[in-house]
Amino acid sequence: MIIFDSTLQLMAYIDQEKAKGKRIGFVPTMGALHQGHIELMKKSLRNSDITVCSIFVNPTQFNDPADLAKYPRTLELDSQMLKEAGVHVLFAPTKEQIYPDGMIPDKKIDLGGLDIPMEGVFRIGHFDGVAQVVKRLLEIVKPDTLYMGQKDFQQFSIINFMINQLKLPVKLIICPTKREKNGLAMSSRNQRLSPEMKEKASLIYKTLMAVKKHRKSKTISELVSYASKRLNTSDFKLEYFSIVDAQTLKDVQTLNESNMIYACTAVWAEGVRLIDNIRIK
Ligand code: AMP
Repeated sequence: MIIFDSTLQLMAYIDQEKAKGKRIGFVPTMGALHQGHIELMKKSLRNSDITVCSIFVNPTQFNDPADLAKYPRTLELDSQMLKEAGVHVLFAPTKEQIYPDGMIPDKKIDLGGLDIPMEGVFRIGHFDGVAQVVKRLLEIVKPDTLYMGQKDFQQFSIINFMINQLKLPVKLIICPTKREKNGLAMSSRNQRLSPEMKEKASLIYKTLMAVKKHRKSKTISELVSYASKRLNTSDFKLEYFSIVDAQTLKDVQTLNESNMIYACTAVWAEGVRLIDNIRIK
């Protein structure tokens, strides 16, 4: 595995490999890698000649400086995992390499309003930072294919919108959420949960599944209030539970409104913010 921290050196390498006709797959991450990330790498390894993984904890997508400071950083272990998975290139830049002209963008990227609901209500400006860094990383890595996880469904939708809007020459592939045995969605943030809470937090997935199970016998507002009650306990503090159209991310009132409907939630447990979603239609 080749490790780059220099943008220019990585760009020169990519140009050279593309000139040979190699197809580039790209998985952007913030590190503290787990099996969910590795599934994305594996998909890229199957479909591309060269798989590039970036590890960059992007400051511009953190609206809370304490969250940025607490974000786990485990570069040595990550690098080992990537090597074992057979990833060809690790790009681990500093923020100066990513933002040589400073972190404030020239102009706001149009996110089609998809950044307004759900996460957008609680993490103001978060998706501006996500779009900014993904756009920049795509300029550097110039991949044929970009791999992202369904776990961050709103993020996927926004990047999909940006790629179409800016006509960026990359194919975006969504990969299913990898879960622990008890159903908890794998996340770098899970490292900060106690073992007991990791068990209890399976309630998030169980609640999503229960909503899916009862979707035909209950109204949307009954489902939302059932799930909200279940996820607002002494152990959990609920931020939102939304049932949305997958295209617009707007709340639906009935199941008939759309062919693709997702239930999405964000919950705090032991000071850790956990998100999850499933497709219910
Ligand atoms: P992160 O490092 O958390 O920013 O995630 C990097 C990429 O991995 C994003 O596209 C995430 O959606 C994806 N990802 C994170 N956790 C999972 C998971 N449990 N299953 C599938 N993809 C994931």
